[in-house]
Amino acid sequence: MKAAVFKHKGGDMEIVDIPIPEPKQGWVRIKVHSCGVCHSDNACKFGNLGNSYPRVPGHEVLGEIEKLGEGVDPSYYKIGQIVGIGWYGGNHCGKCRECLNNQWIFCKESLVCGIHYDGGYAEYMVTPSDSLAFVPNGMSAEETAPLLCAGITVFNSFRNQNIKVGSLVGVQGLGGLGHLAIQFCKKMGYEVIAMSSSSSKEQLARELGAAHYIDMSNDGWVNQMKEIGSVQCILLTAPSSKIIQSSLESLGINGKLVLLAILPEPFNTTSRSLLRGNKSIVGWTSGDSRDAQDTLEFANKNQIKAMIKTFPLEKVNEAFVKIADARFRHVIKIL
Ligand SMILES: [Zn+2]
Ligand SMILES: [Zn+2]
Repeated sequence: MKAAVFKHKGGDMEIVDIPIPEPKQGWVRIKVHSCGVCHSDNACKFGNLGNSYPRVPGHEVLGEIEKLGEGVDPSYYKIGQIVGIGWYGGNHCGKCRECLNNQWIFCKESLVCGIHYDGGYAEYMVTPSDSLAFVPNGMSAEETAPLLCAGITVFNSFRNQNIKVGSLVGVQGLGGLGHLAIQFCKKMGYEVIAMSSSSSKEQLARELGAAHYIDMSNDGWVNQMKEIGSVQCILLTAPSSKIIQSSLESLGINGKLVLLAILPEPFNTTSRSLLRGNKSIVGWTSGDSRDAQDTLEFANKNQIKAMIKTFPLEKVNEAFVKIADARFRHVIKIL
């Protein structure tokens, strides 16, 4: 089969011919249809989570079950079933404190797809069966793939913040995560403020469902936010450490700042900014396969779609290198 691999730390991907992998006990083989390109593929490229090389990246995988390993229940996992695999790559133990608390993603046995084992930039891959979410009928392979990381990240982080339906919610950044976050928050029943670093994306933000638009390059943007109302939550999808303090100030009483991306530098704030108004800053790691299932079903029922550009596997480096100017997600079309 053809696959794109990082052969060594820090290099580009190379297209190689390698044997089709066999699923071991509890694993399944997937015939890959498409795989979304994610900024976090850099973790594979640079070995941030200790992966070995060569390694096939790709953790927004959509494909069909093609072969079951020993011990996988054929009445539940059916050949031909369309499935998705995200950052959570399965293999949770089911016995540890994290598993018993339903936090599979934090189980020490859990694996990351495309990091700890070969991912979706290939014609076939193998994965633990508990990594799979079932894709509802009729969802497009290419438009759905980005929901498996970008989609879960925004939907699952936000639904766990317990924000009252109808509240004002900010979505900072209008890229791969942000354009999905606006759609999800709107369809979940919130009044969305799109927050961007320029005025250029206003029309798009409103088409996606934003009721308000804040151009953060204006000095008075914090006051503009306060004039709209009491903002209960801001999803920071593309933050820099410089905007943390002002974002905090723009929140209403009990407001939450949710960090969805890694900041290159530490940020500064003051205890007073948090204490005055019971505010908080929280982080959130995507979710597991059950969260992926919920994300897919919600997106399907509410017609939420990623805006994408597709590339063939041979052009995977181009898709990856140009991810910063992607409008909005790049997807490798394999089948
Ligand atoms: Zn990702
Ligand atoms: Zn566990």
